[in-house]
Amino acid sequence: MISTAAAAETARKSLAHWAEQAARPLTLMEVCGTHTMAIHRHGILSLLPENVRLISGPGCPVCVTPQGQVDQIVALARQGEATVATFGDMVRVPGSTSSLERERALGADVRVVYSPLDAVALAEALPSRHVVFIGIGFETTVPTVAAAVIEARRRRLGNFTILAAGKRIPPALDALLASGELRVDGLICPGHVSVVIGWRAYEPFAQRHRLPCAVAGFEPTEVLEAIVALVRQAAEGRADVENLYSVWVRPEGNRRALKTLESVFVAGPSRWRGLGIIERSGLLLREEWSDYDAARRFGVEEHEVAEPSGCRCGDVLRGILAPADCALFARACTPESPVGPCMVSTEGSCAAAYRYGRRRGQ
Ligand code: SF4
Repeated sequence: MISTAAAAETARKSLAHWAEQAARPLTLMEVCGTHTMAIHRHGILSLLPENVRLISGPGCPVCVTPQGQVDQIVALARQGEATVATFGDMVRVPGSTSSLERERALGADVRVVYSPLDAVALAEALPSRHVVFIGIGFETTVPTVAAAVIEARRRRLGNFTILAAGKRIPPALDALLASGELRVDGLICPGHVSVVIGWRAYEPFAQRHRLPCAVAGFEPTEVLEAIVALVRQAAEGRADVENLYSVWVRPEGNRRALKTLESVFVAGPSRWRGLGIIERSGLLLREEWSDYDAARRFGVEEHEVAEPSGCRCGDVLRGILAPADCALFARACTPESPVGPCMVSTEGSCAAAYRYGRRRGQ
């Protein structure tokens, strides 16, 4: 719940005022999985006026990883030629026929690491093994993957590669908004990604889509402040980018992190679960770093693969379906026995809804 009753009441009154001024239904999208969790955990939905609703967007990196890429990662582990090092969430994501967790139980060498540099250290500690780091993440994580690749070259490690699966948030949001599939009246921009890319990165599509944007931190009062700002913009007919996380987010972002990222990766097409292939939304290894490309080295390809039967993660990620409206939610699909990635990841919308009880249609 919000930290103080007084702060919650002040925010509720402000929201009610601007929502009344807007005088129409407003749909706001939170893009970041960490925001989704904060919104549920702190009971923010209970403070929204009748005409304001929040939906989740494609801001959970594990969730947007397409089924074909999950299968590609599982195939790599199944080959048995490399140790697969990955963040913990990925281990339990079900592929079409198996998961990393299942392959590990069958003897594959799958290790959970807490940073890409841990995987470099693992490669150095296991000179007789090849270590592949699964490079899933957004602009927040990919600079650290780039730094790991640079470090592996500096240490002259010939037994370290990555599966390049990084993604860029702005092109995905642009594609989602351009699709016309849903009306969004305001965007809570992801705090962590914004630290790296800067708040100016949102200006082009705020203008193109006439969309109010607010960069927000993760404290409940910060999320509420962003919601109030977006509703106020809607009421006043503005479409600005407001940076409400100025302690960490600068206009141009973190130039050093971006430079590191761009020295190793280049923007290219990438497939997103639920969104399909989006131009320039992926971060691909530059040709001069192709020695570190695990897909090329081990001959594992990503194919187009259908979602698990009955799973609506694609619709959830596009914001057109509330998790509780998936027929499998809390029945065949639970955190203990997940059918899709949105129920696995700690940042997944379905996991958040299950844990904190978002109701149908919300
Ligand atoms: S509840 Fe489970 S099956 Fe349904 S969309 Fe979410 S993850 Fe997929």
